[in-house]
Amino acid sequence: MNREDVLAAGGRLAVEAARFTGIGWMRGTSGNLSEVVSRDPLRLAVTASGLDKGELTPSDVAVVGAAGEPVEVAGVEPLTPSAEAGLHARVAAVSGADAIVHVHALNAVVAAHHWPKGVVLKDVETLKGIGRLAHDDEVVIPVIENSQDMTELGDRFEAVYDAATPAVIVANHGLYTWAPTLHRARHITECVEWLLAYRIAIR
Ligand SMILES: [Zn+2]
Repeated sequence: MNREDVLAAGGRLAVEAARFTGIGWMRGTSGNLSEVVSRDPLRLAVTASGLDKGELTPSDVAVVGAAGEPVEVAGVEPLTPSAEAGLHARVAAVSGADAIVHVHALNAVVAAHHWPKGVVLKDVETLKGIGRLAHDDEVVIPVIENSQDMTELGDRFEAVYDAATPAVIVANHGLYTWAPTLHRARHITECVEWLLAYRIAIR
């Protein structure tokens, strides 16, 4: 991993963050996106804390390790990582995914309010968009309680993690999704959010 790898990841994160901001999923400075830039040791490029996610540049990125701790990279300005970087690292470690999306999508929070034990989805075409079947495949988007302690939140994530369902809702907070690439994670995020909006609409 070198400066070029980090800035290339930062550029991709900035593009996706602008896209999600446009949809209204990263209000204020909320939400964060990350890409794995090294597996051994685990290193992630994650959007820096406190910035408007619609205006990021490739260098508005922080590098963190497995516990979300800042890691220095030669030539990269050490910006403060998001407080939630620790959960990104945990998701990357547990799932093996190289891209993690976290957005404060309203429908995720509303769905968790209605179904705090998990959101059940079945028999709808868009499930194919998250790698599941359009018929006779019961999918549960897990819901975990919120916490400001990333180790506690990570433990809750790991307890409900299902390799076949690339999303989890943090109650009263937002949505996490993950995939092998940021491009794929974008599509999963869009489909999960649509599925949650649909589920709320038909309840
Ligand atoms: Zn958040």
